[in-house]
Amino acid sequence: MKYHAMNMGEVEKEFNTSILDGLTDSEAKKRLEQYGYNELEKHKKQSDLLLFLSQFKDFLVIVLLVAVILSLLLGEYADAITILAIVILNAFLGFFQERKAEKALEALQKLSAPHANVLRDGEWIKVDSRELVPGDVIRFSSGDRIGADVRIFESISLEIEESPLTGESIPVEKTTEPLKEPEPGIGDMKNMAFMGTLVTRGSGKGIVVGTGMKTEMGKISGLMQGTQKIETPLQRRLQQLGKILIVVAAALTILVVLIGIIQDRDFYTMLLTGVSLAVAVIPEGLPAIVTVVLSLGVTRMIKKNAIVRKLPAVETLGTATVICSDKTGTMTQNKMTVTHLWIGGKTWTVDGTGYSPEGAFYHEGSPVEVRKEKMLLQMLTYGMICNHAKIKKKDNEYMLVGSPTEGALLVAAMKAGFDRNELLKEYQIVKEYPFDSTRKMMSMIIEDSAGKQFVIAKGAPDVLTQVSSKMIWDGKEEALTDKLKNALHSAIEELASQALRTMAIAFKEIPANKTVTDVHEVENGLTLIGLQGIIDPPRPEVKSAVEKCKDAGIKTVMITGDHLITAKAIASQLGIHQENSKIIDGKTLAKMSVKELEEIVDEVAVFARVSPEHKLKIVQALQGKGHVVAMTGDGVNDAPAIKAADIGISMGITGSDVAKESSSLILLDDNFATIESAIEEGRNIYENIRKFIRYLLASNVGEMLVMIFAIILALPLPLVPIHILWVNLITDGLPAMALGVDQPEGDVMKSKPRDPKEGIFARGLGWKIISRGLAIGIVTLAAFMVTLHNHPNELEYAQTVAFTTLVMAQLIHVFDCRCEKNIFSRNPFKNQFLVWAVLSSIALMLIVIYIPPLQPIFKTVPIQFADWALIMLMAAIPTFLLGGIDAFIKKNR
Ligand code: ATP
Repeated sequence: MKYHAMNMGEVEKEFNTSILDGLTDSEAKKRLEQYGYNELEKHKKQSDLLLFLSQFKDFLVIVLLVAVILSLLLGEYADAITILAIVILNAFLGFFQERKAEKALEALQKLSAPHANVLRDGEWIKVDSRELVPGDVIRFSSGDRIGADVRIFESISLEIEESPLTGESIPVEKTTEPLKEPEPGIGDMKNMAFMGTLVTRGSGKGIVVGTGMKTEMGKISGLMQGTQKIETPLQRRLQQLGKILIVVAAALTILVVLIGIIQDRDFYTMLLTGVSLAVAVIPEGLPAIVTVVLSLGVTRMIKKNAIVRKLPAVETLGTATVICSDKTGTMTQNKMTVTHLWIGGKTWTVDGTGYSPEGAFYHEGSPVEVRKEKMLLQMLTYGMICNHAKIKKKDNEYMLVGSPTEGALLVAAMKAGFDRNELLKEYQIVKEYPFDSTRKMMSMIIEDSAGKQFVIAKGAPDVLTQVSSKMIWDGKEEALTDKLKNALHSAIEELASQALRTMAIAFKEIPANKTVTDVHEVENGLTLIGLQGIIDPPRPEVKSAVEKCKDAGIKTVMITGDHLITAKAIASQLGIHQENSKIIDGKTLAKMSVKELEEIVDEVAVFARVSPEHKLKIVQALQGKGHVVAMTGDGVNDAPAIKAADIGISMGITGSDVAKESSSLILLDDNFATIESAIEEGRNIYENIRKFIRYLLASNVGEMLVMIFAIILALPLPLVPIHILWVNLITDGLPAMALGVDQPEGDVMKSKPRDPKEGIFARGLGWKIISRGLAIGIVTLAAFMVTLHNHPNELEYAQTVAFTTLVMAQLIHVFDCRCEKNIFSRNPFKNQFLVWAVLSSIALMLIVIYIPPLQPIFKTVPIQFADWALIMLMAAIPTFLLGGIDAFIKKNR
């Protein structure tokens, strides 16, 4: 269909829709059923069978299958069957874990899926882009990704970057008129917007003409890359560790077989021993538990309003040393109200709260009749016309649709009794130059009922001063001399020092015989009317979040487009700015090189009047100083800085699609305090991962050593393969998971950030793994030798005692693993999951020891009561003796 050649009436007819009211809700539902969801076909998921089979690719499984064959050759059929059962169980576990992780990822994708602003039943509402249907009327603005293929009918300086379709990265200016060319290429269809392309400037509206696979993007979707599985640095390091352990396992197997041959032992037994050792060395459960703990952590973070888009962020969060955060909306409430108005040396105040249009005007404390203040009325009406915000009343509450800054100006004018729709009958908008945070102003060309054209501009006062040549003073237009400029600056500073955001309003008449279109020409030679001072109170929870970050060794830096003095006032209220910290403004920043900025960046607490482009420089300078930087942003221009930061953070409510796509963390509530709680969670997850890595690896070291010692001492084997497998997969599994969701030891926000270069075994973890592992190995061997001495010729009994000692030593050790300091410093029963996990592990062990039919399978013999004393004594030694020694050394250091 050639929608580009049709006029809007024809498109409306074609889709049976209206650009004034959109579709009705019921019609949209009907079409959704007819056309299906507006999404591209996904790559087919791996089938269940294939995914299950892929679990057998593991090296461990191969080792175990060798064990099965060996057991069969030795006639140990029960062994063979049990190991095979464990292999299959393991494959099922792996399968379900992978599917679970996939599901978690899909849920995340859904949460961060793009939305569209759509007109239904005459009301603008926000829906998931996948719910768009042909005929929907949608609107989009700078930073949005277009949700479907659209025929544009309104373009306000609309520019769209279409590189996903055309490869051309220069944005295309969009128009609304039907095109004459019969077969234009995609890049030439200037009145169309396509799914997946990005609005880089301005705003627009259009009718959806294609959704899902019927879009231009759908046609080429086969070429698009599928979702990638991203691993965290820790997962990668663990994989490397896994590879090293496999080599160690293989080497040990060969060594043991060689020793066996030298000692003239039975070949098959030694081969089986070698395989047992290999099983002992590899921490089978580790990668799966890491994945599950990470995804559980991510789920917990969602509850705290933080969506992790890229898994590595969970780890990086704990290393952050600086948070650079936007002020407006993130640190403040973004609920703006005009409280002061200033024109030519005279100040008025307005009362009232929020967006309720009720409030009165005062001058020096006494009420004034606004209708008599001519210039004030002019400023209020201009602020209302050059505005896109709307105030709606819902359930007796006034709600804002649009920008809060504009909402404040709108409400101020409503308090004086104006109505925008009424004003627009008198003044017609001819052209608009929309707001962007680099220009920090916007303007409109307006025509009044007499046909006279003029420009209305509003924006940051310091910017408007530069493009104004006159100012209203004493009710008259005066040249903007240095004297008047000084008066204006004092007024700006006076308002800003009360933490008010300031907006200036200016205008100029356009001579009847002249047409101006160039933005520089329009926004020049203006007459400044006055200022409006807007309050935007800080979010109450931010101050304590900033303080918590400070305790945690994390510096908070405020970055804002707002005035330096306003920023300083709010930063001081929030404890970000202190006596000795520096404030830098955008102009100074623009002149500095990254190297120069590096010199002073550690002392800077506030960057004011900056453009989003400057943010990248700030990230680079901080990183140059060795910082790990978290950076927030919401607009298109913020994307490069968000990408460059170690943790890019975007806003869930006000954030543009591009900002969200570049970020690794999305704040669902746009709140600074959420960053702090995400960091806290990130730190905790990392500490918990350390806990169970210690737990699992100490177990492996213990198992390996007990076997090696026995071989060296020419003793019979203390453990058979099935025992080792049992410990690794059954005994250790549940408690390790429980460690993964452990409560933090003390306040994780009271210590300095982790060094990002620090390895997982740092801070004494390696020592603890080896020392506890060695001790577990020794006590297991000791229990085995003592029992063998007391019960000569009862090898299986001694093996059962060794197995039980190993299990109990691990289950006591697990409580020590919760403690970075020492086991005596924490209530061991606080983690209920852990208590239940340990009790279940003990119960399972008792079952395989005492239930007769299981005894031949697990090579166990019921343990006599007296021997439990030996087992418990031995099992307690690694934790309590070494824990005591560690505590003693620490105390005396
Ligand atoms: P941040 O989120 O970075 O703290 P901000 O919202 O203060 O910043 P911008 O949105 O870039 O930053 O606004 C910068 C300045 O531009 C404001 O201080 C204000 O003076 C002016 N401004 C903001 N919104 C508008 C608007 N809709 N029209 C005209 N000027 C505006």
